[in-house]
Amino acid sequence: MLPYPFPGPFDYRVPAELAVQPGDVVLVPLNRREEVGVVWDGVPDGAGNGAGDHGVPERKLRSLIAVLDTPRMRPDVRRLVDWIASYTLSPPGVVMAMALRVVSPDSSRAPSGWCVAEALAESGSPESGRVESGRLKTGPSESGPPESVQPMSGHPGSGLTPARRRVLAALADGLPRSAGELARVAGVGSGVVRAMAQAGLLAPAMVPSRAPFEPPNPDHPGPLLSTAQAEAAAVLCHAVAGGEFSVTLLDGVTGSGKTEVYFEGIAACLRAGRQALVLLPEIALSSQWLDRFESRFGVAPAVWHSDLSSRTRRITWRAVAEGGAQVVVGARSALFLPFPDLGLVVVDEEHETAFKQEDGVVYHARDMAVVRARLCSAPAVLVSATPSLETVANVEAGRYRRISLPTRHGGASLPGVAAIDMRVTPPERGKFLAPPLIEAIRETLVRGEQAMLFLNRRGYAPLTLCRHCGHRMACPNCTAWVVEHRVRGSLQCHHCGHAIPIPPECPACGAAHSLTPVGPGVERITEEAAARFPEARRLVMASDTMPGPEAAAAAAHAIEAREVDLIIGTQIVAKGWHFPHLTLVGVVDADLGLAGGDLRAAERTVQLLHQVAGRAGRAEAPGQVLLQTFTPEHPVMQALVAGDLDAFMAREAAQRRPGHWPPYGRLAALIVSADHAAVADGLARELGRAAPSGDGVTVLGPALAPLSILRGRHRRRLLLKTRREIAVQPILREWLARVKVPHGARVEVDVDPVSFL
Ligand code: ADP
Ligand code: ZN
Repeated sequence: MLPYPFPGPFDYRVPAELAVQPGDVVLVPLNRREEVGVVWDGVPDGAGNGAGDHGVPERKLRSLIAVLDTPRMRPDVRRLVDWIASYTLSPPGVVMAMALRVVSPDSSRAPSGWCVAEALAESGSPESGRVESGRLKTGPSESGPPESVQPMSGHPGSGLTPARRRVLAALADGLPRSAGELARVAGVGSGVVRAMAQAGLLAPAMVPSRAPFEPPNPDHPGPLLSTAQAEAAAVLCHAVAGGEFSVTLLDGVTGSGKTEVYFEGIAACLRAGRQALVLLPEIALSSQWLDRFESRFGVAPAVWHSDLSSRTRRITWRAVAEGGAQVVVGARSALFLPFPDLGLVVVDEEHETAFKQEDGVVYHARDMAVVRARLCSAPAVLVSATPSLETVANVEAGRYRRISLPTRHGGASLPGVAAIDMRVTPPERGKFLAPPLIEAIRETLVRGEQAMLFLNRRGYAPLTLCRHCGHRMACPNCTAWVVEHRVRGSLQCHHCGHAIPIPPECPACGAAHSLTPVGPGVERITEEAAARFPEARRLVMASDTMPGPEAAAAAAHAIEAREVDLIIGTQIVAKGWHFPHLTLVGVVDADLGLAGGDLRAAERTVQLLHQVAGRAGRAEAPGQVLLQTFTPEHPVMQALVAGDLDAFMAREAAQRRPGHWPPYGRLAALIVSADHAAVADGLARELGRAAPSGDGVTVLGPALAPLSILRGRHRRRLLLKTRREIAVQPILREWLARVKVPHGARVEVDVDPVSFL
């Protein structure tokens, strides 16, 4: 299997001197190049693209070049690749590339020490270092260190100087040593070691680095669990002890201590000597989680995300493969790590759309985590205070177990939520904070407590308009208005990143100083708050003001240390933060997520706003939440005010069930894109003509995508909807096979779409 979008694996001849097994990372010829691939096995997918004899005549086969010194890709990872490729209709090589990037062939390490040369050792085992095609080849080992060294035999000692003999004696235990250590232990100068290496008496070898991760201690004293927490923890521990696949929804109100509960599941996993994986939606915003882990287990966990340095990546990857990293907390890509003994998979904030990867291979990490758990026969735990309707439906269908924590930890009460009717008490002209919210902030600050303003929009203003001619500043590459970022003095497209300086005159009519901002972003709210509360210490939490984990951790510390009075932020503030002195949350525009309403707009708005609200009043002082809305009668606002999410979800379910909308039916989107509108239209029409039909199968579209131009490409959408018992993949495969995609055009497949843009 090569890491490219071919439909399946290729056939190669295995030269007699190379023994290969499935999963081996190998070097093969492809055209005039050498490429890294993985020896593949497995059954063909629905498109017949699996491994096996493809009937290529013997004389046409080219030979493998070498087996690389990289631990083999594990069978469960290979099956995960097959599964994701087949489910998402992605070329398997492209999915495999994600796992290979994790394996990264550069993980073959440079030798860092010396062992006794093979010629001197009694038995040359296939495990000892051997050079093939100019590359160090070491033995196949799925988990253990590949560079094991044979103990030296007695015979070569004769005829050596005493110094050299002492060096060989120092290696008699078979463990390789660095040159410096060897010289020290043998009591010789480093020149002796160097000379022996030159003479071929010593061979280069890998010195295993010191275990990079301290083992987390399950018996490190943790918090005393409440009865409800202890009962929930017992269910998880039981699932871990069972060592079987299962899925449990851990559902509990915000601040109920869900983290502490699943930490007990992790502790049970550690006591059983097995590994645990925790997926978090945004690892960069997880400083508090990491602190919490360390206070529970005494050490930090291994962390995995795409921004690790390649060195850390290599060390972590090896430690996972060798079992030295017992708990890994990571982003989506951690799913592909080579755990030899995975005993528990946790997906925290399972409702988060950040788990859906939208480019490249389009997959949902929560769902694939469940697949990974099944492939490893491990229990999966999905955690959320606002579970997705998908997960709730799985509970109701009996596929998932549910455990609930109904109250906040330590007697804290859930915050009171009230709506501010913006039609009744509107803000002052040109302002965005209504008088009741301003009053509540004032009272909070007077009490010495912290307040938070939430607006899910970066920048200063979402729209810039010419007062003179009405021209709206748009992105030249996308169907989108550009967003003013006043601090940076630019207008930016939030879809493609295009940025221009704010022009001094209208580009359409030339009027000077006529461009005016319309609507608020967090920068503008911050400006208004600064004018209202000049003495309050403010902190803006948005992805552009707080880039990277360090900035986020510093912000969290500043808030915990009460160095901040007023927090103004985007959806970042809705994450699982625990700020004990925060008692007021103001939602600047509660209606924002409902506009343009896709399938899950209401569900997502309830989840997001409930999560933000859940930041208030998590300790002794009670919390208060105010929602600024023009539609206080909307079921979303009613559900939030009443705090009755279950009723809201039941209502959502009742609305989606009759039409077979997810999770009571299946969806797959086709996104057509092309450089020219006519090409996109032509292809979309052709897909429309070739559309499948039948009982329980519906195709909607083609239609202009809401983002009808993105990065200069014209986009059209079609949506396949089937009843739940009808799989979309075979239908999609047949459908796509009926249509020829012209040059310059593309069809992307999005199974279980989350975004409809
Ligand atoms: P959730 O994830 O359910 O919102 P957390 O796990 O963040 O809740 O817990 C909220 C706070 O309460 C955290 O600071 C946590 O450490 C604390 N906490 C939870 N359970 C206990 C307990 N049994 N003893 C002491 N502190 C606890
Ligand atoms: Zn753009």
